[in-house]
Amino acid sequence: MTRRIILGEGDPKRLFVGGLHGDEWRYTSAILESLDAPGAGAGTLVIIPKLTDQAYISTLDDRYYESYGREIIAAIREINPAIYLELHSYRDFDGLTDPGRIDRAFVPAYIELEDGVLIGSISPILRRACFSMHDLCISFEIPEWGGRSRDLVARLLKSAVNCVSRSEFVDFVLSRYPEQGRLAIENYKRFYGV
Ligand SMILES: [Zn+2]
Repeated sequence: MTRRIILGEGDPKRLFVGGLHGDEWRYTSAILESLDAPGAGAGTLVIIPKLTDQAYISTLDDRYYESYGREIIAAIREINPAIYLELHSYRDFDGLTDPGRIDRAFVPAYIELEDGVLIGSISPILRRACFSMHDLCISFEIPEWGGRSRDLVARLLKSAVNCVSRSEFVDFVLSRYPEQGRLAIENYKRFYGV
């Protein structure tokens, strides 16, 4: 089994995953490994810092969840997280943030929060397989070249570790990034029709 880090105990449970495909782990795993345990009584954080280093398959491709992505589904079913986060890294800022992504890739565009940190939805394949429309599932993307995005995403992840509910984390994002947060929620609602 892939290495897991388990911090804290009890509910709510959070699952953070990095190194989801290809060499992404090089840019994201250390950030996940740097996270501290939730405060006393604030539940559990399970980290899978490096799911795989095998050849890249998009999480939007069914084949992803038939190969190494199967382990994510197994972990979600086992842990039943209230907060699920993926940390990816990118080279193609324009492709991910293009509003036309919905027509090209059938998923909403990512929204830039600040310093190259993007927020968006996880793969609809995974969401439909494992979560209800009301669970908190977020995908963050940072550029491979890192820069200030690493510190910012680490701060965002830390706040997710200390939030005990979906709405607390959504409120936190909206308070810091009202415009971008609203847009991300709008994209999400339009996409899932909720
Ligand atoms: Zn990725």
